[in-house]
Amino acid sequence: SQEILQVENVKKYFKIGPNQTVKSVDGISFSIRKGETFGLVGESGSGKSTLGKTIVGLYPATSGKIRFDGHELGHLDRQTQRKLNREMQMIFQDPHASLNPRMRVGDIIAEGIDAHHLAKGKERQELVYHLLERVGLRPEHAERFPHEFSGGQRQRIGIARALAVKPKFIVADEPISALDVSIQAQVVNLLDDLKQEEDLTYLFIAHDLGMVKHISDRIGVMYLGKMMEIAESSNLFEEPLHPYTQALLSAIPIPNPRLARKRERIVLSGDPPSPVHPPSGCRFRTRCPYAMDICSKMEPAWREVKKNHWTACHLYNQ
Ligand code: SF4
Ligand code: MG
Repeated sequence: SQEILQVENVKKYFKIGPNQTVKSVDGISFSIRKGETFGLVGESGSGKSTLGKTIVGLYPATSGKIRFDGHELGHLDRQTQRKLNREMQMIFQDPHASLNPRMRVGDIIAEGIDAHHLAKGKERQELVYHLLERVGLRPEHAERFPHEFSGGQRQRIGIARALAVKPKFIVADEPISALDVSIQAQVVNLLDDLKQEEDLTYLFIAHDLGMVKHISDRIGVMYLGKMMEIAESSNLFEEPLHPYTQALLSAIPIPNPRLARKRERIVLSGDPPSPVHPPSGCRFRTRCPYAMDICSKMEPAWREVKKNHWTACHLYNQ
Protein backbone atom coordinates (compact mmCIF):
# COMPACT_ATOMS: atom_id res chain seq x y z
CA SER A 1 0.00 0.00 0.00
CA GLN A 2 0.82 3.66 -0.15
CA GLU A 3 3.72 5.21 1.78
CA ILE A 4 2.70 7.96 4.19
CA LEU A 5 6.22 8.73 5.45
CA GLN A 6 9.52 8.76 3.61
CA VAL A 7 12.78 9.36 5.41
CA GLU A 8 15.76 9.91 3.13
CA ASN A 9 19.32 9.99 4.42
CA VAL A 10 18.26 11.98 7.49
CA LYS A 11 20.94 13.21 9.88
CA LYS A 12 20.47 14.94 13.20
CA TYR A 13 23.65 16.21 14.84
CA PHE A 14 23.95 18.09 18.12
CA LYS A 15 26.93 20.32 18.79
CA ILE A 16 27.91 19.81 22.42
CA GLY A 17 31.25 21.66 22.41
CA PRO A 18 33.61 23.55 20.11
CA ASN A 19 34.89 20.34 18.50
CA GLN A 20 32.31 17.89 19.68
CA THR A 21 29.28 16.79 17.75
CA VAL A 22 26.94 14.00 18.71
CA LYS A 23 25.79 12.26 15.56
CA SER A 24 22.55 11.06 17.09
CA VAL A 25 20.98 10.16 13.77
CA ASP A 26 23.55 9.64 11.07
CA GLY A 27 22.06 8.97 7.67
CA ILE A 28 18.85 6.99 7.98
CA SER A 29 16.49 6.06 5.17
CA PHE A 30 13.23 4.15 5.44
CA SER A 31 9.56 4.58 4.80
CA ILE A 32 6.31 3.72 6.54
CA ARG A 33 3.18 2.61 4.74
CA LYS A 34 -0.22 4.03 5.52
CA GLY A 35 -1.83 1.98 8.28
CA GLU A 36 1.40 0.29 9.24
CA THR A 37 2.90 -0.06 12.69
CA PHE A 38 6.64 0.30 12.33
CA GLY A 39 8.57 -0.77 15.43
CA LEU A 40 11.86 1.03 16.04
CA VAL A 41 14.21 -0.64 18.47
CA GLY A 42 17.62 0.12 19.93
CA GLU A 43 19.49 0.58 23.19
CA SER A 44 19.42 3.97 24.88
CA GLY A 45 21.66 6.34 22.96
CA SER A 46 20.93 4.66 19.65
CA GLY A 47 19.16 7.80 18.41
CA LYS A 48 15.68 6.32 18.14
CA SER A 49 13.94 9.07 20.14
CA THR A 50 15.87 11.73 18.27
CA LEU A 51 14.78 10.18 14.99
CA GLY A 52 11.15 10.14 16.18
CA LYS A 53 11.28 13.79 17.24
CA THR A 54 12.94 14.77 13.97
CA ILE A 55 10.24 12.99 11.99
CA VAL A 56 7.39 14.84 13.72
CA GLY A 57 9.28 18.13 13.36
CA LEU A 58 10.17 18.74 17.02
CA TYR A 59 13.80 18.92 15.85
CA PRO A 60 14.82 20.26 12.46
CA ALA A 61 16.89 17.68 10.59
CA THR A 62 20.56 18.58 10.10
CA SER A 63 20.28 17.19 6.57
CA GLY A 64 18.24 14.78 4.51
CA LYS A 65 14.60 14.72 3.53
CA ILE A 66 11.43 13.82 5.37
CA ARG A 67 8.25 13.59 3.35
CA PHE A 68 4.88 13.14 5.03
CA ASP A 69 1.73 12.56 3.00
CA GLY A 70 3.35 14.19 -0.01
CA HIS A 71 4.74 17.24 1.83
CA GLU A 72 8.43 17.78 2.42
CA LEU A 73 9.13 18.96 5.97
CA GLY A 74 11.04 22.18 6.31
CA HIS A 75 9.62 23.53 3.04
CA LEU A 76 6.02 24.19 4.01
CA ASP A 77 3.79 27.21 3.98
CA ARG A 78 2.28 28.14 7.35
CA GLN A 79 -1.05 26.55 6.68
CA THR A 80 0.40 23.20 5.62
CA GLN A 81 2.80 23.32 8.55
CA ARG A 82 -0.14 23.73 10.93
CA LYS A 83 -1.96 20.87 9.26
CA LEU A 84 1.07 18.60 9.65
CA ASN A 85 1.59 19.73 13.26
CA ARG A 86 -1.90 18.41 13.86
CA GLU A 87 -1.65 15.25 11.78
CA MET A 88 1.65 14.09 13.27
CA GLN A 89 1.44 13.55 17.01
CA MET A 90 3.80 12.16 19.60
CA ILE A 91 3.17 10.13 22.73
CA PHE A 92 6.00 10.32 25.22
CA GLN A 93 7.73 7.78 27.39
CA ASP A 94 7.10 9.44 30.70
CA PRO A 95 3.44 10.42 31.00
CA HIS A 96 4.22 12.10 34.32
CA ALA A 97 6.75 14.53 32.88
CA SER A 98 4.72 15.29 29.77
CA LEU A 99 1.50 16.25 31.57
CA ASN A 100 1.37 19.70 33.18
CA PRO A 101 0.70 18.98 36.89
CA ARG A 102 -1.21 22.24 37.37
CA MET A 103 -3.65 21.66 34.57
CA ARG A 104 -6.88 19.72 34.83
CA VAL A 105 -6.96 16.59 32.70
CA GLY A 106 -9.78 17.95 30.56
CA ASP A 107 -7.73 21.02 29.66
CA ILE A 108 -4.63 18.92 28.98
CA ILE A 109 -6.60 16.81 26.55
CA ALA A 110 -8.14 19.92 24.97
CA GLU A 111 -4.81 21.73 24.42
CA GLY A 112 -4.62 20.69 20.78
CA ILE A 113 -8.35 21.19 20.27
CA ASP A 114 -7.91 24.80 21.41
CA ALA A 115 -4.68 25.41 19.49
CA HIS A 116 -6.21 24.17 16.26
CA HIS A 117 -9.67 25.68 16.92
CA LEU A 118 -11.36 22.32 16.47
CA ALA A 119 -14.20 22.86 18.93
CA LYS A 120 -15.32 25.15 21.73
CA GLY A 121 -17.88 25.40 24.52
CA LYS A 122 -20.16 22.46 24.95
CA GLU A 123 -18.88 20.72 21.84
CA ARG A 124 -15.32 20.89 23.19
CA GLN A 125 -16.44 19.50 26.52
CA GLU A 126 -18.27 16.63 24.92
CA LEU A 127 -15.29 15.87 22.73
CA VAL A 128 -13.11 15.67 25.85
CA TYR A 129 -15.59 13.33 27.57
CA HIS A 130 -15.75 11.19 24.48
CA LEU A 131 -11.93 11.01 24.27
CA LEU A 132 -11.68 10.01 27.94
CA GLU A 133 -14.09 7.17 27.28
CA ARG A 134 -12.21 6.13 24.14
CA VAL A 135 -9.07 5.56 26.20
CA GLY A 136 -10.85 3.73 29.01
CA LEU A 137 -11.26 6.62 31.45
CA ARG A 138 -14.44 8.41 32.59
CA PRO A 139 -15.89 11.87 31.87
CA GLU A 140 -15.60 12.92 35.51
CA HIS A 141 -11.83 12.45 35.24
CA ALA A 142 -11.71 15.68 33.22
CA GLU A 143 -11.90 17.71 36.45
CA ARG A 144 -8.98 15.99 38.13
CA PHE A 145 -5.23 16.61 38.04
CA PRO A 146 -2.53 14.28 36.63
CA HIS A 147 -1.13 13.28 40.06
CA GLU A 148 -4.46 11.67 40.92
CA PHE A 149 -3.86 8.98 38.32
CA SER A 150 -1.70 5.88 38.05
CA GLY A 151 1.09 5.61 35.48
CA GLY A 152 -1.08 3.58 33.13
CA GLN A 153 -3.95 6.07 33.43
CA ARG A 154 -1.60 8.97 32.79
CA GLN A 155 -0.42 7.29 29.63
CA ARG A 156 -4.08 6.95 28.61
CA ILE A 157 -4.44 10.71 29.16
CA GLY A 158 -1.41 11.28 26.94
CA ILE A 159 -3.00 9.09 24.28
CA ALA A 160 -6.31 11.00 24.53
CA ARG A 161 -4.41 14.28 24.12
CA ALA A 162 -2.73 12.98 20.97
CA LEU A 163 -6.01 11.62 19.58
CA ALA A 164 -7.89 14.84 20.26
CA VAL A 165 -6.59 16.55 17.13
CA LYS A 166 -7.44 13.65 14.80
CA PRO A 167 -3.90 12.74 13.82
CA LYS A 168 -2.94 10.48 10.92
CA PHE A 169 0.43 9.44 12.27
CA ILE A 170 1.64 8.92 15.83
CA VAL A 171 5.19 8.49 17.07
CA ALA A 172 4.89 6.56 20.32
CA ASP A 173 8.23 6.98 22.10
CA GLU A 174 8.54 4.08 24.52
CA PRO A 175 4.94 4.55 25.64
CA ILE A 176 4.98 1.49 27.88
CA SER A 177 8.58 1.34 29.12
CA ALA A 178 7.83 3.22 32.35
CA LEU A 179 4.72 1.17 33.15
CA ASP A 180 4.25 -1.93 35.28
CA VAL A 181 4.49 -5.10 33.22
CA SER A 182 0.88 -5.92 34.13
CA ILE A 183 -0.30 -2.65 32.58
CA GLN A 184 1.88 -2.70 29.46
CA ALA A 185 -0.28 -5.11 27.47
CA GLN A 186 -3.42 -3.06 28.19
CA VAL A 187 -1.86 0.11 26.84
CA VAL A 188 -0.48 -1.71 23.78
CA ASN A 189 -3.92 -3.21 23.12
CA LEU A 190 -5.53 0.20 23.45
CA LEU A 191 -3.08 1.69 20.95
CA ASP A 192 -3.71 -1.21 18.59
CA ASP A 193 -7.51 -0.84 18.82
CA LEU A 194 -7.30 2.91 18.25
CA LYS A 195 -5.11 2.35 15.22
CA GLN A 196 -7.79 0.22 13.57
CA GLU A 197 -10.65 2.53 14.53
CA GLU A 198 -8.96 5.81 13.64
CA ASP A 199 -6.98 4.71 10.58
CA LEU A 200 -3.70 5.60 12.22
CA THR A 201 -0.11 4.84 11.29
CA TYR A 202 2.44 4.31 14.07
CA LEU A 203 6.12 4.61 14.61
CA PHE A 204 6.42 2.64 17.82
CA ILE A 205 9.74 3.13 19.61
CA ALA A 206 10.98 0.63 22.20
CA HIS A 207 14.28 -0.42 23.71
CA ASP A 208 13.51 -4.08 23.48
CA LEU A 209 12.28 -6.25 20.67
CA GLY A 210 9.82 -8.19 22.79
CA MET A 211 7.73 -5.06 23.32
CA VAL A 212 7.16 -4.42 19.63
CA LYS A 213 6.99 -7.99 18.34
CA HIS A 214 3.22 -8.45 18.37
CA ILE A 215 2.10 -5.04 17.24
CA SER A 216 4.64 -4.25 14.53
CA ASP A 217 4.20 -5.03 10.87
CA ARG A 218 7.86 -4.24 10.30
CA ILE A 219 10.71 -3.53 12.68
CA GLY A 220 13.83 -1.41 12.32
CA VAL A 221 16.86 -1.90 14.55
CA MET A 222 19.08 1.11 15.31
CA TYR A 223 22.57 1.24 16.73
CA LEU A 224 24.63 4.39 17.34
CA GLY A 225 22.67 6.55 14.96
CA LYS A 226 22.47 4.02 12.11
CA MET A 227 19.85 1.57 10.96
CA MET A 228 21.23 -1.97 11.20
CA GLU A 229 18.31 -3.96 9.87
CA ILE A 230 14.71 -3.64 8.71
CA ALA A 231 12.40 -6.57 8.12
CA GLU A 232 8.85 -7.71 8.49
CA SER A 233 8.32 -8.55 12.13
CA SER A 234 8.03 -12.31 11.68
CA ASN A 235 11.10 -12.45 9.43
CA LEU A 236 13.16 -10.44 11.86
CA PHE A 237 12.37 -12.85 14.67
CA GLU A 238 12.76 -16.00 12.60
CA GLU A 239 15.82 -15.01 10.67
CA PRO A 240 17.65 -12.04 12.10
CA LEU A 241 20.50 -11.19 9.72
CA HIS A 242 22.50 -8.56 11.56
CA PRO A 243 24.70 -9.75 14.47
CA TYR A 244 23.33 -6.91 16.59
CA THR A 245 19.73 -8.01 16.01
CA GLN A 246 20.79 -11.57 16.79
CA ALA A 247 22.29 -10.32 20.05
CA LEU A 248 19.13 -8.43 20.99
CA LEU A 249 17.06 -11.51 20.25
CA SER A 250 19.32 -13.80 22.22
CA ALA A 251 18.28 -11.82 25.29
CA ILE A 252 14.61 -12.76 24.81
CA PRO A 253 13.63 -16.22 25.97
CA ILE A 254 11.55 -17.78 23.23
CA PRO A 255 10.09 -21.26 23.59
CA ASN A 256 10.97 -22.46 20.11
CA PRO A 257 13.66 -25.12 19.96
CA ARG A 258 14.11 -24.62 16.23
CA LEU A 259 15.43 -21.15 16.98
CA ALA A 260 17.26 -21.90 20.20
CA ARG A 261 20.65 -22.50 18.59
CA LYS A 262 20.57 -19.20 16.76
CA ARG A 263 19.64 -17.40 19.95
CA GLU A 264 22.65 -18.71 21.84
CA ARG A 265 25.17 -17.34 19.45
CA ILE A 266 25.79 -13.88 20.82
CA VAL A 267 25.76 -12.31 24.22
CA LEU A 268 26.01 -8.56 24.08
CA SER A 269 28.43 -7.23 26.65
CA GLY A 270 29.44 -3.73 27.63
CA ASP A 271 27.87 -0.43 26.68
CA PRO A 272 27.78 0.95 23.16
CA PRO A 273 30.68 3.29 22.29
CA SER A 274 30.07 7.04 22.48
CA PRO A 275 28.14 8.54 19.58
CA VAL A 276 30.62 11.46 19.71
CA HIS A 277 33.40 9.15 18.48
CA PRO A 278 31.69 6.20 16.84
CA PRO A 279 33.96 3.38 15.59
CA SER A 280 35.17 3.61 11.99
CA GLY A 281 33.62 1.34 9.40
CA CYS A 282 30.85 -0.67 10.98
CA ARG A 283 29.73 0.93 14.23
CA PHE A 284 28.91 -2.39 15.78
CA ARG A 285 32.38 -3.85 15.21
CA THR A 286 33.67 -3.23 18.77
CA ARG A 287 30.98 -5.59 20.09
CA CYS A 288 30.59 -7.92 17.13
CA PRO A 289 31.92 -11.48 17.44
CA TYR A 290 32.15 -11.77 13.64
CA ALA A 291 34.15 -8.59 13.03
CA MET A 292 36.60 -8.91 10.13
CA ASP A 293 39.37 -6.70 8.78
CA ILE A 294 37.10 -4.92 6.39
CA CYS A 295 34.65 -4.01 9.19
CA SER A 296 36.97 -1.32 10.59
CA LYS A 297 37.90 0.03 7.16
CA MET A 298 34.64 0.27 5.32
CA GLU A 299 31.11 1.08 6.30
CA PRO A 300 28.87 -1.80 5.22
CA ALA A 301 26.33 -0.85 2.56
CA TRP A 302 22.60 -0.86 3.26
CA ARG A 303 21.31 -3.72 1.11
CA GLU A 304 18.15 -5.71 0.51
CA VAL A 305 19.59 -9.14 1.30
CA LYS A 306 16.28 -10.98 1.09
CA LYS A 307 12.92 -9.79 -0.13
CA ASN A 308 11.87 -6.80 2.02
CA HIS A 309 14.67 -7.62 4.42
CA TRP A 310 17.42 -5.01 4.60
CA THR A 311 20.64 -4.94 6.56
CA ALA A 312 24.06 -3.29 6.66
CA CYS A 313 26.72 -5.93 7.36
CA HIS A 314 29.80 -7.16 5.50
CA LEU A 315 28.79 -10.76 6.21
CA TYR A 316 26.21 -10.42 3.44
CA ASN A 317 28.41 -8.88 0.80
CA GLN A 318 28.71 -11.81 -1.60
FE1 SF4 B 1 29.99 -7.46 12.52
FE2 SF4 B 1 31.39 -6.66 10.41
FE3 SF4 B 1 28.79 -7.18 10.16
FE4 SF4 B 1 29.62 -5.04 11.49
S1 SF4 B 1 29.90 -5.42 9.31
S2 SF4 B 1 28.03 -6.43 12.13
S3 SF4 B 1 31.45 -5.82 12.48
S4 SF4 B 1 30.41 -8.62 10.68
MG1 MG C 1 14.55 7.58 24.44
